[in-house]
Amino acid sequence: MMFKSLLVAGLLPTVFAAPAPQMNYAENTGPVGGVDPPIPTVTAASGSLYGPEDLLGEIAKPSPVSGGDSAIVTNYPLVNGQEVDDDLGLYLDFNSVEKPQPIRGEAGQTDPGPRTYEYEKLNPDLFAPPGTDSGDTAQLQWPLGLSHNRLGSGKQAGWARQQNTDQLPVATAFAGVDMRLAPHAYRELHWHSANEWALMLKGSVRLAAVNDNGESFIDDISAGDVWFFPAGVPHSIQALDEGCEFLIVFDDGAFSEDGTSLVSELFMRNPKEVLSKNLQTPVSAFDNLPDSELYIFNGTPAPANISAQNETGPAGILPAADSYSYHWSEQQPYTTPGGSVKILDSTTFPLATMFAVALVTVQPGAMREMHWHLNSDEWNYFLQGSARMTVFDAPSSSRTFDYSAGDIGYIPATDAHYIENTGTEDVIFLEVLKQTKFTDISVAQWLALTPKQVVQDTLNLPDDTLAGLPKEKTYIKTGNKNMTALAANPNGTGAYEVSD
Ligand code: MN
Ligand code: MN
Repeated sequence: MMFKSLLVAGLLPTVFAAPAPQMNYAENTGPVGGVDPPIPTVTAASGSLYGPEDLLGEIAKPSPVSGGDSAIVTNYPLVNGQEVDDDLGLYLDFNSVEKPQPIRGEAGQTDPGPRTYEYEKLNPDLFAPPGTDSGDTAQLQWPLGLSHNRLGSGKQAGWARQQNTDQLPVATAFAGVDMRLAPHAYRELHWHSANEWALMLKGSVRLAAVNDNGESFIDDISAGDVWFFPAGVPHSIQALDEGCEFLIVFDDGAFSEDGTSLVSELFMRNPKEVLSKNLQTPVSAFDNLPDSELYIFNGTPAPANISAQNETGPAGILPAADSYSYHWSEQQPYTTPGGSVKILDSTTFPLATMFAVALVTVQPGAMREMHWHLNSDEWNYFLQGSARMTVFDAPSSSRTFDYSAGDIGYIPATDAHYIENTGTEDVIFLEVLKQTKFTDISVAQWLALTPKQVVQDTLNLPDDTLAGLPKEKTYIKTGNKNMTALAANPNGTGAYEVSD
């Protein structure tokens, strides 16, 4: 290799030079018996693409140890809480400084760059991790803002972006789609191999579907409501007058929203003779079929009166017990100090047998308590606010991730986790499980219901701590809005007690 390049550079005496190659470039079959391809030629005015050979380490003159592009960083203010014991793991708000530094307690060092400060300000627990983080975990965060957006056909009809195992390889149980439809726009009639659960985020839609019994379904739902379409059941979605945005969760992490079966493709991919026979209609009926798939496209307004669109066969309409929608926005949340929780699973939405979902609101300073789930991975979507989560992955790894509105989170089954509000507004998120019922194991309740002696012999907790453990599950723990209150008194009660 070096011999060849020295030849090219003309540095070897001619006595060592190989005879001029006799082969044409067109006949070059590679390095063995071939010739080197021509090197690019440049004019003196534009400089050279390559440096001289005498820059190689053993012959080059020494580089200067100071000056030039220095690694010295001076005048770097640290944020509140950054210098206390790294095991406290306080949430660090880097927005108060221009250039955050990856320093936590006595650990870390300044970062001279290159870097993009905005990523670090959004992810302070990745940039300057708590001292309790350890080992290796899978990537458990995906901001949908980093997903490719597929724009619909037609004028500003809508868009969709997704997260599946291409973006988050560990997330094998669920995939997600964020979709926008303009007023009256459609998500084209289609079906697919995964079960589909969806939450309306904004606006309202008209849904239509037909099942294998020939029972038909039609319903209008609005922000906060939910639909579920089983695998294979064909359905359509049309935005009503104000348009809409919704979040779809598929129960297959490898599923792609781009892989659904569209009715336009069904008609394009079958012989017209077959279409004619199948619909018992002249071939001319298919003269105006779309010539490419529609996917997301503009439509005519749906009639305000939904019953005008009823198409009912002998099997009738879909029985309410099998309904594809649940008007979740009307369900009152269970409130508890620090926030509220709404649960939707097969208890009240029987058709969606394996979607168990909690919609959780956590106030500033408060926290979804430390817990885990028995036998399902968890898929999260953050609707509002900002939060952080540490995932403990046995035997000894943990990592803390930060989330903000529009982010997706993921937690492997039985990994312990909490979700702590790190912002100044309520954080609202979904916990989606593949279970018939929404269940969890609460760390606080577990310890409260275990013989005190056992807990004490193991963790050496004080008597009054054990006496204060709640025997009922609270889901949420209250906390101090001042996320760095412990900096003033690291052994104190600042994490959960609000001072005057
Ligand atoms: Mn679908
Ligand atoms: Mn959970």
